[in-house]
Amino acid sequence: MLNSDYDIIRDITQIIFEKFDYKCANCLSEENLTIAHYVPRSLAGNNNTDNLIVLCFNCHRLQHDGKIEIAKIHNYFYFKRKKM
Ligand SMILES: [Zn+2]
Repeated sequence: MLNSDYDIIRDITQIIFEKFDYKCANCLSEENLTIAHYVPRSLAGNNNTDNLIVLCFNCHRLQHDGKIEIAKIHNYFYFKRKKM
């Protein structure tokens, strides 16, 4: 039997949360966690697991506002808060 889309999305979410140890990749918060795209979907980012990161609600908002910069080097993510 095929999984429904819902099951697939849930499974990917689980994989990403485990990969990031249930912590925000930027501030290490364990609360209000969300899945974010490293390359935003607006810039043709995809839903592959290597394009998904865990960010807390606050950091996710900062990312969307362009206030943090994310670099990916050798499969590790680095965050830099932009000077405003
Ligand atoms: Zn955070």
